[in-house]
Amino acid sequence: MTDAGLTGDATGAVLVLNSGSSSLKYQLVHPDSGEVVASGLVERIGSETAAAEHEQNGDTRRFDGPIADHHEALAKALDLFAEAGTDLASSGLQAVGHRVVHGGQEFSEPVLVSDEVIETIDALSGLAPLHNPVNLMGITAIRALLPDVPGVCVFDTAFFHHLPAAAATYAIDRDVAAEHHIRRYGFHGTSHEYVSGAAAEFLGADPTDLQQIILHLGNGASASAVRGGRPIDTSMGLTPLEGLVMGTRSGDIDPAIVMYLRRVSDMDIDDIDHMLNSGSGLKGLCGENDFRTITSMVADGDEAAQLAYDVYIHRLRRYIGAYMVDLGRVDAIVFTAGVGENAPTVRRDALAGLERYGIAVDDEANVVRSRAARRISTADSEVAVLVVPTNEELAIARKAAAVVAGA
Ligand code: AMP
Repeated sequence: MTDAGLTGDATGAVLVLNSGSSSLKYQLVHPDSGEVVASGLVERIGSETAAAEHEQNGDTRRFDGPIADHHEALAKALDLFAEAGTDLASSGLQAVGHRVVHGGQEFSEPVLVSDEVIETIDALSGLAPLHNPVNLMGITAIRALLPDVPGVCVFDTAFFHHLPAAAATYAIDRDVAAEHHIRRYGFHGTSHEYVSGAAAEFLGADPTDLQQIILHLGNGASASAVRGGRPIDTSMGLTPLEGLVMGTRSGDIDPAIVMYLRRVSDMDIDDIDHMLNSGSGLKGLCGENDFRTITSMVADGDEAAQLAYDVYIHRLRRYIGAYMVDLGRVDAIVFTAGVGENAPTVRRDALAGLERYGIAVDDEANVVRSRAARRISTADSEVAVLVVPTNEELAIARKAAAVVAGA
């Protein structure tokens, strides 16, 4: 979706906010057409050297300087909107859509922001200490700045809320699990839902007839098995740490590593948490987490980068195999997000040698660069292998608009 040649009118648009610990991403988008009116990113919030970049009508506006907190970051974004000619308070915006990472057992659907909803998200912070508190900062800040615009929370976990019990349950003491709400929640749900729907549309099939494996491979990465439009398994768990190898996260490890390190090293529990979330995965293995850099390091013969790549692919294939068995019959395997959409070698290596299972990637189609949904499997591959760009902002905008329309 681009803003080229479009109206630029904010009437009826949704402001989508994704607040991170020191960053804030936003997009003003029309839910029906997908037209992006404006987008921006505020980085290094809380520092003297913060930066905001705002794109609208083909122009980029910047601010460099101190930004104390998320309230100030949003106020700055609103200033940049005004400079570009849009007073968001009077622009006819229909909603603000918030990406909220952890909805716990409480939220299986998007909800209107209210005091009670804010309290519940806050209470879930123990499950997502890196995410929910900063998501809340965005929610309360925009509520104060645009009090007349309804806010809607869209949860990363919601799509997986009704995972079958066998897939959602950890085999640990059931009383401990119940007391502390320990189960597999799954994340990136908005993307998995959007992409599985878009894949069905691309194939001209009814989603309820399709069995798909969705591979969301970005800096964070997750896989899901989707039957008839509903997930039956996913790779992330209580937190977004479980599953595939990611940019900086380990994915699956033997949990005994945590206890072992606690006993034999001078790392405390926060050090271990930090290592597993921020210093592991591709970065832990080769010092880099950007797949473009790793690809060129591999091409230059860097052994650490090669091992990182091999571990990444090994884990990915393990999940693909598991989900082939989970599903029994696979109609489509769908790659999405930064790596999935842009790294043909990952797609090739993830599915190499699976012809006897009806999976054959077409080498020529695989290397074609495009921003559109496309098929990369051979004409006689029984399983359709697709690349389908994700669009979490549009998905959040659509959900927010639907909630507001039904309110
Ligand atoms: P995302 O989290 O979906 O934004 O994906 C971010 C990741 O996508 C980055 O860490 C990059 O490693 C990867 N990526 C983006 N563009 C490319 C590309 N052209 N080739 C390989 N990887 C890419």
